[in-house]
Amino acid sequence: MSKKIYLYGNWKMNNTYSETEKFFAEFPAVYEPLKNDSNLEVGIFAPFTSLWPLSQGAKKCGIVFGAQNVYYEPKGAFTGEISIPMLKEYDVTHIILGHSERRHIFGESDELIAKKVKAVLDAGMTPVFCYGETLEERESGSTFTVMERQLKSAIKDLLPEEISKIIYAYEPVWAIGTGKTATPDQAEEVCGWSRKLIGNEKVVILYGGSVKGSNAKELLNMKDIDGALVGGASLKPASFLEIYTAFKN
Ligand code: PEP
Repeated sequence: MSKKIYLYGNWKMNNTYSETEKFFAEFPAVYEPLKNDSNLEVGIFAPFTSLWPLSQGAKKCGIVFGAQNVYYEPKGAFTGEISIPMLKEYDVTHIILGHSERRHIFGESDELIAKKVKAVLDAGMTPVFCYGETLEERESGSTFTVMERQLKSAIKDLLPEEISKIIYAYEPVWAIGTGKTATPDQAEEVCGWSRKLIGNEKVVILYGGSVKGSNAKELLNMKDIDGALVGGASLKPASFLEIYTAFKN
């Protein structure tokens, strides 16, 4: 039996409402040959303002969809934030948390991200928890120290059944949006190490960082990599789904 692959697209701050409608005008035809493949789970994570057309398009195609961030309080004086109940009204089930752009551009701390992870789990939703080292951290030999801190902070107060519900995404910061990909061995080393640290061999762990059709096969064939979190290549249906086709062929 071949393994199940999670192919998740993070649109970041791309694709407006009308561009999302355009994406879903094209997507069904490209997805058609793959849609009955039970070893594939496709997900798309859009900006808040594109969640309505995303939800409509995704439901028609039977794919997972979600948001890229959320605040942990249910409501109140938090100007500019979006809450979990707000996302639930759009039937959002999955939320990316701790993406390196949230950590490094917007200064989100491990503590804040841990609160978000807990709140999302409490709401019965799935956190897609991102972690990974910067180039400086890798070059100074602190890759595993940094990731241990990020991972432990997110899961330390959770029950084993909560820990198993999280989808983990190892995303080396130096490989995100740079065109530089971690080698399959580098990605595998971290994903295998993460399973041990998390204490559950069965958790879903994705790799993210410049994944595209041309490098997908080697990465997705690695034993401890369950799928890909894809930025740039997820913006067009063809370049996104080509990642899975490359793995299969
Ligand atoms: C990401 O945004 O999570 C990502 C991995 O981006 P890219 O594929 O463009 O490197």
